[in-house]
Amino acid sequence: NADMAMYAAKEKGRNNYQFYSEELDVRVTRKINIEAQLQKAIEKNELSLVYQPQLDLATLEVVGVEALLRWNPEDMNVTPSEFIPIAEQTGLILPIGEWVLKTACNQMKQWIDECGELNIAISVNVSSRQLVESDFLEVVEKALKEANLAPHLLEIEITESVLLDVDRTTQVIQALKNLGVRISIDDFGAGHSSLNVLRNVQIDTLKLDRSLVMDVHKGNRMEVLVTSIIELGKKLHTGVVVEGIETAQQADHFRAFNVIGQGYYFSRPVPAAEIRAKWLRCNKGRKF
Ligand code: C2E
Ligand code: MG
Ligand code: MG
Ligand code: MG
Repeated sequence: NADMAMYAAKEKGRNNYQFYSEELDVRVTRKINIEAQLQKAIEKNELSLVYQPQLDLATLEVVGVEALLRWNPEDMNVTPSEFIPIAEQTGLILPIGEWVLKTACNQMKQWIDECGELNIAISVNVSSRQLVESDFLEVVEKALKEANLAPHLLEIEITESVLLDVDRTTQVIQALKNLGVRISIDDFGAGHSSLNVLRNVQIDTLKLDRSLVMDVHKGNRMEVLVTSIIELGKKLHTGVVVEGIETAQQADHFRAFNVIGQGYYFSRPVPAAEIRAKWLRCNKGRKF
């Protein structure tokens, strides 16, 4: 019996090992496949942007739009959370990020051409990998210039976790600010809480991470935390965007704080034409 038990344990161990190695194999193969296909994504026209409106919660007017990257290869289903890290590791994020900046600036300019002055900015996510590249400023300038877009209509979203190399990032952020571009700290409060960047530069926007917002309930600790971050933003004269608003209750909860809201409750990220039809209503700016 003891022998039998030992044997079973060994078998089980071996199977476990096999299970893990097969799973690893599938993952590695998929990653290699994604990397290979991603290389051709731009030339094959497989990249696109969708846009999500940001609303002033007090007036329910659209005050900004975030551009979010989508990739539709022929025979795969891939989310940004899967392919963007791969693009970052391989350096493909550089040409892809340039494409995103260019496309987003062009889109914003097109909306302005179609609708007249719009008092909204377009937000573009940028990876640390892009930010520390020596020609990043030129890439941004070129995108603005070619689209003929005023710099203050572009907001660059930087994720908090990339701000670990504070000196270098502070330098780049300052240079971007000198260009007239707006700076937003994305996923604020999500992890690596570095208040460091707030120490040195005037940031335009703090985006409260969705995970914090999700857990806010009247009277709980998270509410205290989130309320304090909003106050911090106000005292530092940054705008505050609350990410991931999914319910009417959440929208109501944050209305009193005079902040900007973004989330599925108002709109999922949608194609440019839908933003124009539903949210811009040329010249007016539609209310929710
Ligand atoms: P992010 O910048 O924090 O963008 C917000 C993400 O939350 C988006 O996911 C958006 O679709 C999703 N979202 C918005 N409202 C809600 C909500 O109410 N509930 C929930 N559950 N989710 C909501 P998405 O588009 O899948 O993008 C994921 C992440 O990928 C982004 O997070 C950003 O870090 C990165 N990403 C997307 N586009 C780009 C890009 O062009 N360049 C770079 N470098 N990163 C990008
Ligand atoms: Mg973002
Ligand atoms: Mg982001
Ligand atoms: Mg975010």
